[in-house]
Amino acid sequence: MLRFLLIPALFALSTAAVAAAGAPGSGAATVDDARLRQADREPQNWMTHGRDYAEQRYSPLDQIDADNIGRMVRVWSYETGLKRGHEATPIVIDGVMYATGSWSVVFALDAKTGEELWRFDPEVPKAVGAKACCDVVNRGVAVYDGKVYFGTLDGRLIALDAKTGKPVWSVVTVDQSKAYTITGAPRVVKGRVIIGNGGAEFGVRGYVSAYDEKAGSLVWRTYTVPGNPADGFESAALEKAAETWSGGEWWKIGAGGTVWDSMAFDPDLDLLYVGTGNGSPWSRKHRSPGGGDNLYLSSILALDPDTGELQWHFQTTPGDNWDFTATQHMILAELDIAGKTRKVLMQAPKNGYFWVLDRETGEFLSAAPYVDVTWSDGVDPKTGRPQENGSATYDESIAMVKPTAFGGHNWQPMSFSPKTGLVYIPAQEILGAYRFNPKEILTSEHFNTQTDLAIFATLVREVVAGHLLAWDPVAQKEVWRHPYAMPWNGGTLATAGDLVFQGTADGRFLALRAADGHKLWEFHTGSGVIAAPISYAIDGIQYVSIVSGWGGAFALVGGDAAAQAGVPSKGTVHTFALSDQAITPAVLEEMLAGRDEKLAAKEDLYHRWCARCHGVTAISGGAVADLRHSAPDVRAAFVEIVQKGMPGVGMPAFGEILSEDEIRQIQSYVEGKSS
Ligand code: CA
Repeated sequence: MLRFLLIPALFALSTAAVAAAGAPGSGAATVDDARLRQADREPQNWMTHGRDYAEQRYSPLDQIDADNIGRMVRVWSYETGLKRGHEATPIVIDGVMYATGSWSVVFALDAKTGEELWRFDPEVPKAVGAKACCDVVNRGVAVYDGKVYFGTLDGRLIALDAKTGKPVWSVVTVDQSKAYTITGAPRVVKGRVIIGNGGAEFGVRGYVSAYDEKAGSLVWRTYTVPGNPADGFESAALEKAAETWSGGEWWKIGAGGTVWDSMAFDPDLDLLYVGTGNGSPWSRKHRSPGGGDNLYLSSILALDPDTGELQWHFQTTPGDNWDFTATQHMILAELDIAGKTRKVLMQAPKNGYFWVLDRETGEFLSAAPYVDVTWSDGVDPKTGRPQENGSATYDESIAMVKPTAFGGHNWQPMSFSPKTGLVYIPAQEILGAYRFNPKEILTSEHFNTQTDLAIFATLVREVVAGHLLAWDPVAQKEVWRHPYAMPWNGGTLATAGDLVFQGTADGRFLALRAADGHKLWEFHTGSGVIAAPISYAIDGIQYVSIVSGWGGAFALVGGDAAAQAGVPSKGTVHTFALSDQAITPAVLEEMLAGRDEKLAAKEDLYHRWCARCHGVTAISGGAVADLRHSAPDVRAAFVEIVQKGMPGVGMPAFGEILSEDEIRQIQSYVEGKSS
């Protein structure tokens, strides 16, 4: 019975033992357009950033459900060895997981066991960290045609061989003398790798690029804001956009509009959607003193994926003055609205409104505030244009604004369940204060937000909270919420098992009932969670994975409020399954048989004589010394202690039972566990 009880612990704690179990997947990553277009028909895989091109982040897998979630246990974990924010959504294809940590480090793991197959560090110069407004993060990779594509913080796009992790090609996608960074995940559309960049906090001009997946050559590049009109325009769309900028020399600072995260693709309409960021600088008084909407800042752009040409646009915050980007996650779905099935695009950008658009034409269908919105009293019912009420127009006096630059919702992905019809939004309430700072230096080399972050941060400390919000996108109303003491919680995953998963700033990973938000399960990850979970299946077993690792913009700026998370910034991939699915006799046999012979001999000795008190796989349950963390003098006296025992604390003497060689084997096993 004891052995039986210990088995889940063995699985939950012994990455190495489990790692020895399964043969790695083929790793060939034979992903092509046909597979990507039908990604929804492969529920066992998580083939692209949002699972499929519609980016719903809904898994049709239902082995883990609201009734049995209590039996879900961690089956393996992988420590990235990296600190700072971990924002990646892992990709899983045919048994192999590809993910990223901070500093743009990429790794491939056996998705069944967590065994590292390869790891690639692009060696981003650490000085580049100064250009990253929002931490040295990376949101993940794209996989296609046997290659793994990712952007690096210093602006490179790299293709790795999916089997070996060796570089196939690498191209610099930005002017590295400027403050460009890449944190977003690429997408592959029709054989082209689509990549944007960030940097609008420090003075850059936004654009999105498409590279040939084989050659790494540039196919097209679309700027999102006009350059200097005296130089002519790259497109008619930009010429038109320039009419909405007035009186300033915006091009000298860059103007912003960076495509730093969200994308989606509709293969039937042949439209690629990208979200654009804030103005550079934030204050429109500097950018465009004569007024105007400043297209295409804070906009959703529909592009022709073959040419990058603009097909339609919708600006969520005209004349953005507050870092209200429209880079937040976009979800494509079919919704029944007023008796008609509409192909919609949904977004909950930072500005606090939830938008539903017709994704074929960009026609506005509906919008409503999903959090407190103080800067606007509503939207024009015909055009959807949000109406500013003037309360947020700051000058050298302070304006208090909700939401803030952190957003009512930020990059943390939301999810949509076709089963419940609800969107699950990682929402947050942070009161912001903006003040124009005329002393800021206005050159692209020495540039900040032109607002006073000291004021902002003082306030941040006082007024923060977050919640998981279940939103009905048809009725445009809240259905339920699960409150958190902290903002800056992780992205969400909805599943056909009537569940919604979310990690939290205070380091928990939760499962809630999708219909009513009732909390059913939680796990402590050991670090704050900001990334989004995924689900996949191998050999008939459903897995759920989440990357933990506290960081990102709020962790950097939020001071005391962010520190309340009280968890170290340490990157780990955690993978879960139902205990009775993951832990079968066959799996155990395979696991034990797969062990290295020498290790097995030591491990068996340890488990026979030591594990009953010092814990399975040398991990103490806490009541008796954890041998992995023994002091140097104890390590030096290991043999003697085991031979003679320590009667004063109940440690038996093994001198008559174990040979010195056996004791040294046990010590070697323990030492191996302590690294
Ligand atoms: Ca920004």
